[in-house]
Amino acid sequence: MNNLVKILDIYGQDYYVCSKCLGRLFAVLGSGLTNKTRGESLLLALTLELHRKIFSKEQDISNEGLEGIKILAKKANYIIAQNILRNKDIKFQQFDDSKKCYLCQGVFDNLNQYASKAMVESQEIEFENFLVGCSCDFIINKEDKFKSEFNLTYSESFKNHFNREVGKLIEKGITRPVEFKNPEILFIFNLYYEKFNLSLQINPLFIYGRYRKFERGIPQTHWFCRNCRGQGCKECNGTGKQYPTSVEEKISDLFVKYSKASDSKFHGAGREDIDARMLGSGRPFVLQLIQPKIRKLDLRKLEKKVNKKNKKKVEISNLKFSTRRKMINLKANAEFSKKIYRAFVEFDEDINQSIFKEKLNKLKEQLENKIILQKTPQRVLHRRADLTRKKKVFEINGSLINSKHANFTIKTIGGTYIKELINGDGGRTTPSLTEIFGFQCICKELDVLNVEY
Ligand SMILES: [Zn+2]
Ligand SMILES: [Zn+2]
Repeated sequence: MNNLVKILDIYGQDYYVCSKCLGRLFAVLGSGLTNKTRGESLLLALTLELHRKIFSKEQDISNEGLEGIKILAKKANYIIAQNILRNKDIKFQQFDDSKKCYLCQGVFDNLNQYASKAMVESQEIEFENFLVGCSCDFIINKEDKFKSEFNLTYSESFKNHFNREVGKLIEKGITRPVEFKNPEILFIFNLYYEKFNLSLQINPLFIYGRYRKFERGIPQTHWFCRNCRGQGCKECNGTGKQYPTSVEEKISDLFVKYSKASDSKFHGAGREDIDARMLGSGRPFVLQLIQPKIRKLDLRKLEKKVNKKNKKKVEISNLKFSTRRKMINLKANAEFSKKIYRAFVEFDEDINQSIFKEKLNKLKEQLENKIILQKTPQRVLHRRADLTRKKKVFEINGSLINSKHANFTIKTIGGTYIKELINGDGGRTTPSLTEIFGFQCICKELDVLNVEY
């Protein structure tokens, strides 16, 4: 059956379909057309063909043409078919005005209501581009049945059509473009024909930076109280927190405030121990601001404010706007980046300068550019799987402070457990300083001096 015959069949069976929906049913055919123009063109082509048949000398064909024109006049409310009949003084039944399009129930005659709702709802939000989406399962199921009944295989989806047309109206109204890949805001319509509700999804804002931590005892991210898991109990004085603050909290609250975000997530490129300082040029992080109403942040100003508030504790620098992709890469690469640490180490035995020199040479020989094996440290076994990790040490240097203490600088690959590299963790890390020195060495203080990126 050709397409025009199919169309006549649709109207003949008393399905009224508006020109926009008719065009959508054949959207694959022709390009650079709106569905409205396509639908109107199909009706015109069909009408011209039926009109031609009326002129046929064969009575059957002529009648067929006339009946077809009557169907289009009455059931498709098609003006050109109606004009043909009027010119011939042929009476025809009027279109029933209470009838709505079987497929859209008038949605496509009233697209402005969706667009203006979106514009009103987003007035207070800052965004440069947007995307429209919709959920309308009921409409789609009904349309799918209809398409299979008439074997319509050149259609596009209701969703595509709706999203595009509403998108065009919003674009015009707010003079900001639709963005498919990375929209800053999504207008999602939950449709039941002309009844609908709109939800706004503001996509997160990502900010890259580096932080330094000058005070020990601050975890990188917020930790729930181990006892109550955030509910608040006696042990945590009702705060629900294991530690009073974190690098995350110290940095994020001002960003949340200025961006009017609902929340934030902190992504560090690895993390230092709670009791280790983070020095040098700092550790890279990405701050993810959830549902920000403001996106044009003055990062310089915010950096100053954050640093002023956290003086001598936490400092941020190098701020710039980032993306989800960069955030994911940052986390993935943390394991492969090189880190330099300073460790203040205490020895179990007295040691003098010449013994220290000798031991340091041994250390260099056995550790530099060598692979060490680390079983998951006993101190984190309660929350990490028991695995053996291969880690590389690049460089180690040291200087003796007194008979019991020395400072070491150690350059390793990311994810190396430095405290265990020093104390040996009861043989779970091998080789270790303890193993090579032949007596217990303990890391008393640890600083991260550099994170290479
Ligand atoms: Zn329609
Ligand atoms: Zn608690």
